[in-house]
Amino acid sequence: MQYEHILIRYGELALKKRNRKEFETQLVRNIKKALKDYPGVQVIRTFGRLYLALNGEPYSEIESRLEKVFGIHSFSPTRFLQSFELEDIQNAALQVMKDVTPFPKTFKVAVKRPNKQFPHRSMEMNNLMGGFILRNTEDLRVDVHNPEVLLSIEIRTDGVFLSSRSVAGMGGLPTGSSGKAMLMLSGGIDSPVAGWMTMKRGVRIEGVHFHSYPFTSERAKQKVVDLSRILTQYSGGMKLHVVPFTEIQTQIRQHCPEHYTITIMRRFMMRITERLAQKHGALAIATGESLGQVASQTMESMYTINSVIDTPVLRPVVAMDKEEIMKIAHRIGTYETSILPFEDCCTVFVPKSPVTKPKPELAEQFEAPLDVEQLVEDAVNGVESIWIDPSTEEENEFF
Ligand code: ATP
Ligand code: MG
Repeated sequence: MQYEHILIRYGELALKKRNRKEFETQLVRNIKKALKDYPGVQVIRTFGRLYLALNGEPYSEIESRLEKVFGIHSFSPTRFLQSFELEDIQNAALQVMKDVTPFPKTFKVAVKRPNKQFPHRSMEMNNLMGGFILRNTEDLRVDVHNPEVLLSIEIRTDGVFLSSRSVAGMGGLPTGSSGKAMLMLSGGIDSPVAGWMTMKRGVRIEGVHFHSYPFTSERAKQKVVDLSRILTQYSGGMKLHVVPFTEIQTQIRQHCPEHYTITIMRRFMMRITERLAQKHGALAIATGESLGQVASQTMESMYTINSVIDTPVLRPVVAMDKEEIMKIAHRIGTYETSILPFEDCCTVFVPKSPVTKPKPELAEQFEAPLDVEQLVEDAVNGVESIWIDPSTEEENEFF
């Protein structure tokens, strides 16, 4: 049987202290965006329930899109019946059970009856439905504790919903319900994961990538575009700002002591990203920094790098081990792209022995020969901004 409806559940607990209406509106908007390739699908909101009418659109493709929408707790392919006749409900329930593949050995019926006009109570309905199914199938037993299939039947005022399966969603909050952050996106493993985790909390992100052509190739930039496109499967489109970083790196190398080059370079990245955040209305910066992972990610280093800006920095992977981060990278589909061997602007100029405990005063002193303000301004003015869409291979410049 082709399913005609999908019932969507979202984290009700998360809503207690939030504006529920706003949350739902954002979720509906994101679901529509995620399903824009399936124009037949209707999103229906009634009586505190959210469901989709598929109108012939392919269930399995829609399932894989819904699995990537933040804010969905779980969803179920659902049979929707607009009859309250006992016989009709029994036949529909039997049909739903027969469609389960592989056919189970045990099941349990769970009836909910929010529609109090319906004459049979939930307990009585459990027996009426369960008995009917048992009489019309073979080798099937009821197991109330650990059933293979939980047949859920909800009798509502607008009809009866039947489902035999629940698919786990991503959880989190709908993207766009918690404001915007600039994601410092390198071609590595950590920052795409950090971006995904930030989005999971409802934050819309714009990517910022520092590119040092010709020290780093067009392929290295393309890798970041590809990573961004993978992230858009979860967000439905994002901006990527590519910052020209060659001049700054050249000047740092010429004028600053070698062991401080990474620290000073990172301070520039922060200043420029903060400027872009202000320009584009973002209230935070997200990075893939993980404490202790490399020389530039010690506590002292974070302090010295962070001290040039006032904008809050979100570091969702700060406390995670590399294996944990890699696990998420695999799950969200960025890992294979992240490990492609293109050089990054940070790996091009690796000093022999970078300072592990840099100090803000020293960094400032070593930056003195540079015209910091001018360099930052030039970099910001030279930004190339790209709109990346999940469904097209072509990205287009919008400035
Ligand atoms: P990643 O895997 O994200 O590259 P990493 O372990 O290589 O992280 P670093 O190279 O020290 O760590 O970078 C720390 C963070 O700084 C990155 O997670 C990213 O947020 C930011 N960053 C580094 N290089 C760039 C770049 N070229 N453009 C934008 N952001 C960058
Ligand atoms: Mg890196």
